[in-house]
Amino acid sequence: MNIHEYQAKQIFADFGIPVQNGKIIENAENAISAAKEIGGKSWVVKAQIHAGGRGKGGGVKFAKDLEAVGKYAHEILGMNLVTHQTGPEGKLVQKVYIVEAVDIKEEYYLSILLDRATEMPVIIASAEGGMDIEKVAAEMPEKIVKIQINPLIGFRSFHGRMIAKTFGLNADLTKKVTNLVASLYQIYVQKDANMIEVNPLVLTDDDEFIALDAKVGFDDNAMFKHKEIAAMRDFDEEEPTELEADKYGLSYVKLDGNVGCVVNGAGLAMSTMDIVKHENGEPANFLDVGGKATAETVAKSFEIILKDPNVKAIFVNIFGGIVRCDRIANGILEATQKINVNVPLVIRLDGTNAKEASEILKKANIQNIITAESMSDGAKKVVAAARG
Ligand code: ADP
Ligand code: MG
Repeated sequence: MNIHEYQAKQIFADFGIPVQNGKIIENAENAISAAKEIGGKSWVVKAQIHAGGRGKGGGVKFAKDLEAVGKYAHEILGMNLVTHQTGPEGKLVQKVYIVEAVDIKEEYYLSILLDRATEMPVIIASAEGGMDIEKVAAEMPEKIVKIQINPLIGFRSFHGRMIAKTFGLNADLTKKVTNLVASLYQIYVQKDANMIEVNPLVLTDDDEFIALDAKVGFDDNAMFKHKEIAAMRDFDEEEPTELEADKYGLSYVKLDGNVGCVVNGAGLAMSTMDIVKHENGEPANFLDVGGKATAETVAKSFEIILKDPNVKAIFVNIFGGIVRCDRIANGILEATQKINVNVPLVIRLDGTNAKEASEILKKANIQNIITAESMSDGAKKVVAAARG
């Protein structure tokens, strides 16, 4: 689960990490009064969306006076912000954060992530922070330092000194940055975060560190422990079809291809996507109907998948263990009566009562239903069908 910058900064503040005061607004009419309340002489108006790269996309604007605050709030609220992380379709900006502008001496990059290869948290630090970190990673990877943290030992001051060395800091600032990263690490552990990114962490003209940007992601499976964080979830930021699937107990992730997949079991769903790719097709989604492969969930799956206009064919790949294939076959037929499935359906049912299922489908003699003998046969047929 991801949260917005302003929410991440609330958590930072609770852990003693310096952030700026700011105000969140949803109506541009309130921008100027918000800026007045914050105080100061100049401000920054920041789009709140669950994606980075806002600055380059035009979602972060420096306002030299109150009038400019109003102007930028009007421009940014309601805009469709396209960044390198949103994809070409962009994201609608519904909230804007107004903060005081600061005089920046240095911009650093800092993040804590889970390194799956070493099975340890890793701190990533670079003196080349700011909006071009992707370029630094691509062209000067030696400027980015990775520090593994043994979870049994946790974050220690020597880790802080390693970060300070990367940043090129004096003794006084070394102490400050060590305390700051120690607090970030506490958030990472105590709140079950799986990603904390501060880019930029800035050093101001009066030698204070401020987390100027904040991005935090959490482990969904731990959210039952953290009601206060679960409450920060912003449903407007999530794919509507994924939310609907969630209501019916379907695990659905939308992808960019044109072959829809309806599968039972996450492992089978993954291997179905693999085999579709192996046949030079592109899956349009991951969908696991779980143990509930019933007429209703199959119908719902078709409905959700068909909301994606890219889908040109659907591959139903279900293994009947506890659920019997003949019941699924009847469920599919029922589903095609309930909703208009206007693309070819390639069906592979294996396991308990597979033979009966195959007979049911053949007898029904529905034009756009194609049966498959095996998974690879099904993958070949569905990729061909999607090509037309
Ligand atoms: P994003 O990473 O999504 O582009 P940031 O919050 O990092 O958004 O802002 C982009 C850039 O804008 C920062 O790297 C920084 O240079 C500048 N910036 C952001 N907030 C402020 C501020 N309060 N004062 C001065 N400059 C700022
Ligand atoms: Mg940033």
